[in-house]
Amino acid sequence: MRSQAVRAINSLRHRVLAHSTFSLRPHSTSARRGPRLTPGAKALRAAPTIPFFGALFSSKSNSDELSGNMSYPDQRSDDQWRAVLSPEQFRILREKGTEAPGTGEYDSHYPSKGVYTCAGCNAPLYTAEHKFKSGCGWPAYFDSIPGAVKRHVDNTFGMKRTEIVCNNCGGHLGHVFEGEGYPTPTDERHCVNSVSLRFTEDEAAAGKGPHEKAKA
Ligand SMILES: [Zn+2]
Repeated sequence: MRSQAVRAINSLRHRVLAHSTFSLRPHSTSARRGPRLTPGAKALRAAPTIPFFGALFSSKSNSDELSGNMSYPDQRSDDQWRAVLSPEQFRILREKGTEAPGTGEYDSHYPSKGVYTCAGCNAPLYTAEHKFKSGCGWPAYFDSIPGAVKRHVDNTFGMKRTEIVCNNCGGHLGHVFEGEGYPTPTDERHCVNSVSLRFTEDEAAAGKGPHEKAKA
């Protein structure tokens, strides 16, 4: 009789304890590892970070390189770019558009000196010495100013091409093609939209923004 009562009490206490530890464990057992099995608020709070981390890892290894969605020093928003670019510049620089062949301002432009800067952020990209006659309908350069141009794999339109963007603002420039047989030091052709570029003969002024120019 007495042992029955003890057993009943023990059973009740076990159930109460089991119930209470369910909610108390996350706060009281700090030594316990393994968040997957831990019930309660802690697990619920941790759950949203899992897809977040997944997105971080996948974007780092794949989509950044493919989509060109990198971090650049110049982080202006689309609205900020619209405020300073013409609609055509925005379409090509920010939406990866292409100007019609043979129509660009710099297609048949062969100065003896000077610098082509990014039409978006004014970073120096190419010098007059890099330019050559490719006959392709767009300005062509066999090389860029070191570090000025970033390459991405571009798989749009069922072709595997290498997109080139301004390394300072991520603005779309065009594509680079290799091994075509042009008699240049690199046998590379940076095929660039004129709309993405701005030319200045003044190499010293290239790359300086409007503020620096105003002060000079
Ligand atoms: Zn730029």
